[in-house]
Amino acid sequence: MNYKEMLDRAYKSMPEKSLKRERFEMPKAQSFVQGSRTFVSNFSKIMSIINRDEKHALKYITKQLATAANIDAGRLVLKGIFTQEQVQRIIEDYIRAFVLCPECGRPDTKFIEQKGVKMLKCTACGAIAPLRE
Ligand SMILES: [Zn+2]
Repeated sequence: MNYKEMLDRAYKSMPEKSLKRERFEMPKAQSFVQGSRTFVSNFSKIMSIINRDEKHALKYITKQLATAANIDAGRLVLKGIFTQEQVQRIIEDYIRAFVLCPECGRPDTKFIEQKGVKMLKCTACGAIAPLRE
């Protein structure tokens, strides 16, 4: 038996690598109210953790909260007063809808287009799911 065969045999005798269903830990939004606006100071940081386009998330958030918002120096600035819970919930909704794989629950996903339809593709388990927009 040569070295490669030995490696092959060793590899084959290893238990099937099981996909771990680790629960993705939702990033915590840090928000505060100043005057009539609500700031999410770690917005850009959250977007880089979940690897999503800030503008895409911004569109979703403004629609869900029915308000205007913009991004200023990495912070999300919402028009109106929102509690930390409201901000947290909307970000978690976004992550569930556009980031987490519905099959394995991992956040290692990306947007792809299939026949002109936007889909969510998981790079961890390979699942492809339609996106609700
Ligand atoms: Zn998956």
